[in-house]
Amino acid sequence: MPRNDDKMLRCSFCGKYQDEVERMIAGPGVCICNECIELCQEVLNGEASHASESKPRREAASETVPMPKPQDIKKVLDEYVIGQDRAKRALSVAIYNHYKRIFLKDNDDSVEITKSNVLLVGPTGVGKTLLAQTLAKTMNVPFAIADATTLTEAGYVGEDVENILLRLIQAADWDVERAQTGIIYIDEIDKIGRKSENTSITRDVSGESVQQELLKLLEGAKVEVPVGSNQKNALTPMTTVNTDHILFICGGAFPDLEDIVRERLNKSSSMGFAAELKDRYDKDPDILSRATTQDLRTFGMIPEFLGRLPILVTLESLTAELLVKILKEPKNAILKQYEKLLAMDEVKLSFEDAALEWIAEEALKKETGARALRAIIEDFMLDIMYEIPKDPNIGSVLITRSYLERSGGPLISMRD
Ligand code: ADP
Repeated sequence: MPRNDDKMLRCSFCGKYQDEVERMIAGPGVCICNECIELCQEVLNGEASHASESKPRREAASETVPMPKPQDIKKVLDEYVIGQDRAKRALSVAIYNHYKRIFLKDNDDSVEITKSNVLLVGPTGVGKTLLAQTLAKTMNVPFAIADATTLTEAGYVGEDVENILLRLIQAADWDVERAQTGIIYIDEIDKIGRKSENTSITRDVSGESVQQELLKLLEGAKVEVPVGSNQKNALTPMTTVNTDHILFICGGAFPDLEDIVRERLNKSSSMGFAAELKDRYDKDPDILSRATTQDLRTFGMIPEFLGRLPILVTLESLTAELLVKILKEPKNAILKQYEKLLAMDEVKLSFEDAALEWIAEEALKKETGARALRAIIEDFMLDIMYEIPKDPNIGSVLITRSYLERSGGPLISMRD
């Protein structure tokens, strides 16, 4: 029986009345009993000891846990990223060397291994961000994403480049030391290419000057980062971050780069014996893999900037076959997620192979890589997830191609 004693104080946390506990402490509009205070104290003690334990544990991690080898890194990437084999191999080696440089200090100072930041070139939605994100997860280091299009030269409206570091510190739970071994992914880097049209009259706020500003971050420097506010002013507290061990991965679609590469190759082949190769370059679907630093300079990236991104990795466009795999195979594949959601209603969801092919074909038409997959699936799954729970007798649903083409319904089976 619920009690209804208006005059009696009642704990706002556990609901016990004043006469059921030893002490009741009242604040404005709330009360807490001695039992809940004790419980809170235990929670706080637990967290404090956990926090004091976790720091040395984390520091120890880099010293005692053996560093994953390139093959181990690639294996983890394979679990999340479909295709892109060449990129996965190149990145696994780059990451391995980067962290070897940090953690396995040797006594030989005569050879200094330089930082190996990475430039990822590939169409939109083919896994550039996913690769960078998965690498950070594999290495258990903090990770931050920045968008180059929002960056501006200091003093202009927009984001200062130092804010990228602030984001990494946030991702490292304000542990600056840990942030200094993290990974930063800078997306849309091609958008800060120098545009030939605006080189003179106005200052090129969004392009070349931002490349210049990013240089110091990329090469390794001590940078003053405003903490606690996004805008610098005299009162903003600053912290110093050494970017020497931060790995920068820059990514972009570089839309006209294919033409630049093709033109260079055609020019060189038409000059010599290789004239018959000309046609081959025109039709080569993987022409991007032949891109060089010179091509990126022609595109509009400044040489100093490219010099600080010594590892150039190109990604391939996704075929319908790869898109179907992306639907099914990654650890957190979209189909697995929907199957799990329906399994909670004890409904088995499955897809006809031809239905998956239809989804991939539709996604290809949108030219946004794997990004289109989720929107297409959400569109029809909404109806399914609205209708199915209303009938508890439904045991399984098979999504067919004809249903997706709007010429039939899904195949629904009832429970026995
Ligand atoms: P971008 O190349 O533009 O950075 P993203 O990595 O952000 O593309 O990918 C967009 C979406 O597509 C993400 O949800 C990602 O999970 C998925 N995706 C893209 N490429 C792949 C791939 N190769 N394997 C698995 N999922 C992918």
